[in-house]
Amino acid sequence: MLTRSALIYLSRQEGLKDFAARFSLFRKLTTRFIAGDDIDEAVAAIREINAQGCSASFDHLNESVSGIAEAEAEVKEYLDVLAHIDETGINSNVSIKLSQFGLQIDPELAYRNARLVVEDASRRGNFVRVDMEGSNDTQATIDIFKRLRGEFGLNDVGIVLQSYLYRTMDDARDLLKIPARIRLCKGAYNEPPEVAYPEKQKVDENYVQVMQLLLSSGIYHGIATHDPKMIDATKDFAQREGVSKDAFEFQMLYGIRRDLQEQLARDGYGMRVYVPYGKHWYPYFMRRLAERPANIWFVLKNLWK
Ligand SMILES: Cc1cc2nc3c(=O)[nH]c(=O)nc-3n(C[C@H](O)[C@H](O)[C@H](O)COP(=O)(O)OP(=O)(O)OC[C@H]3O[C@@H](n4cnc5c(N)ncnc54)[C@H](O)[C@@H]3O)c2cc1C
Repeated sequence: MLTRSALIYLSRQEGLKDFAARFSLFRKLTTRFIAGDDIDEAVAAIREINAQGCSASFDHLNESVSGIAEAEAEVKEYLDVLAHIDETGINSNVSIKLSQFGLQIDPELAYRNARLVVEDASRRGNFVRVDMEGSNDTQATIDIFKRLRGEFGLNDVGIVLQSYLYRTMDDARDLLKIPARIRLCKGAYNEPPEVAYPEKQKVDENYVQVMQLLLSSGIYHGIATHDPKMIDATKDFAQREGVSKDAFEFQMLYGIRRDLQEQLARDGYGMRVYVPYGKHWYPYFMRRLAERPANIWFVLKNLWK
């Protein structure tokens, strides 16, 4: 069986990313996790998600972009997404990755590109979530987020923190002072023990502690997990502390635990589904397999269908 770290290693192989994008047979494997190739297919998926009582967040798949023109094309894509949200009336915001906007080329370029998207979202009354990537980029991502947050409002732009990092509780306290809207997740990258808890139990304990800090802040945060234990801990804490169901939202990924997504929405909780689309699906898809290698068999079965 392929291990988590082997799958994450494969997810970072640029050659495989291009190879995979060229073959439609591979694309067929991904339909459970990827909403489509273009904005229209993602809009159709989001309409269905909205019909189940859930909101959404667009994610145009592309990361670790290495050319300025490609980074600028990503900005154009997101401006197009924001226009489509307005035109179609769907209930969705957007999630961006700074590596998609050129973080690896020049942080200033990533800031300028992200700013264009946040400015447009702000004008439209929408919201941009800055995803968190590998730990080499954590500080740069927080720095750029703080600049954006200094120029735009609490409800224009938010950030993500990962409970597997030792630094996260300090980052959460620091960001709440601004204040900032935070999506809390466990973290999806391969991180060394120098920066991240190697044991799942510690990641989970930290998740619960940071979740409690966020829910006590009076700010609207996103609790992003498919883990029933984290979800129950959140529901229990909210009930105990009198935090109302509409004071935060749960978030899950497209295609994962749809039953639980719909159940939480039916129970009156805010539920947002992260909807990835686009041709550069390979790294995202491999990270999903890494989280649950049992999904490899599910995916392979689709080949014969
Ligand atoms: C909305 C959203 C946004 C995210 N944004 C980021 C981000 O910006 N940066 C980042 O590093 N990570 C991000 N992630 C990924 C996150 O860090 C985790 O890698 C991922 O959510 C798996 O962790 P978990 O909390 O679901 O629990 P885990 O401990 O991985 O799993 C707990 C249980 O959840 C279920 N489950 C989990 N994954 C799967 C799966 N793939 N298929 C089927 N069942 C599954 C299983 O029942 C499993 O036993 C995001 C996740 C979500 C939901």
